[in-house]
Amino acid sequence: MHTFTFSRAADLTKAIAAHAEDPHLAFIAGGTDLIGLMKDHVALPQHVLDINSLPDMSRIEALPDGGLRIGALARMNDVAADVEVRRRFPVITESLLFAASGQIRNMASMGGNIMQRTRCAYFRDEDDLPCNKRRPGSGCAARDGLNRLHAIFGWSDECVATNPSDLAVALAALDANVIVRGPRGQRSITFTEFQRLPGNTPERDNVIERGDLIISIEVPPRIEGRSSHYLKVRDRQSYEFALVSTAAAVAMDGGCIRSARVAMGGVAHKPWRLTAAEAALRGVSLDDIEAVKKAIGLSFVDARPLAQNGFKVELGRRVALRALQVAGGRT
Ligand SMILES: Cc1cc2nc3c(=O)[nH]c(=O)nc-3n(C[C@H](O)[C@H](O)[C@H](O)COP(=O)(O)OP(=O)(O)OC[C@H]3O[C@@H](n4cnc5c(N)ncnc54)[C@H](O)[C@@H]3O)c2cc1C
Ligand code: SF4
Repeated sequence: MHTFTFSRAADLTKAIAAHAEDPHLAFIAGGTDLIGLMKDHVALPQHVLDINSLPDMSRIEALPDGGLRIGALARMNDVAADVEVRRRFPVITESLLFAASGQIRNMASMGGNIMQRTRCAYFRDEDDLPCNKRRPGSGCAARDGLNRLHAIFGWSDECVATNPSDLAVALAALDANVIVRGPRGQRSITFTEFQRLPGNTPERDNVIERGDLIISIEVPPRIEGRSSHYLKVRDRQSYEFALVSTAAAVAMDGGCIRSARVAMGGVAHKPWRLTAAEAALRGVSLDDIEAVKKAIGLSFVDARPLAQNGFKVELGRRVALRALQVAGGRT
């Protein structure tokens, strides 16, 4: 049996210092991912530091400029239920409500959500199968194994996993910022830079370093925010991770798209922004389905499906189209 100590942090600076100094210490917030990883022997911290009592980290603030500041310890359900979050950025509310279950969302924090690790079955298997993310240098069992749920964009031979967070997809579409405090002070990380592609270091999911504590998530004001939608397709209708999902936000000029923000989940090691499609969608009528499809198609030129997940290419195109149509209808 793996034994560990448990303590509660009361002071931010001390919590950061303790994490920076001890590579065997893990922060715990809701515990809905960390405890699972410990049960599967993927994470074996010797010390678990509960950060739930740290001050001022659960607030949900509607900023005067139209943006949001959401504390890292705010619970997913509380954020989803917040009237201003719903009004300003429906895509955030929907990405939260389509995730996990009501009970899990009551416990799970915003910071923990964007730090959660991949659901690749080989990574989480108790038997410690070849997995470069879990044990660097051991291989990737999914590359030529069961890879129906894996990436079609941006993968490497070292890792073909996807990021499981729904919230992350919405935050990537909105170019949100993650506010992190570490031993050298505070910094802001653009969400599209927060999570990484696997390359030859798949053990690193994101740019967080030892001693870094996520303080909050800031969403800048976006003209596209109110006309936004999160569409998630999964193998069953609830309590399941995305096969493919899309966060879409649009600003319309009459019937035409003035600007669009589109990110996909379930297709890469990080939320995948459809930047080519976003550029091509400018000025296109949402009623001109062929033109919208053509624009979306530009972002799928780089798709590299694996042996079992070719279906994600066509599914991804359709989910992106539908998400844009729903978002556009909300203007
Ligand atoms: C059955 C099940 C189904 C799920 N389905 C979905 C789903 O469909 N979509 C989805 O998006 N998610 C889903 N989840 C994942 C769930 O949303 C996450 O487990 C949860 O958001 C993690 O938050 P937490 O507070 O419990 O994190 P914890 O488990 O406490 O922590 C997770 C990780 O984050 C680190 N951490 C936590 N807070 C901070 C911080 N402030 N700064 C730095 N590091 C921090 C911890 O050290 C740990 O490494 C599911 C989970 C389960 C168990
Ligand atoms: S896809 Fe990544 S997480 Fe899954 S087995 Fe391969 S290396 Fe491990």
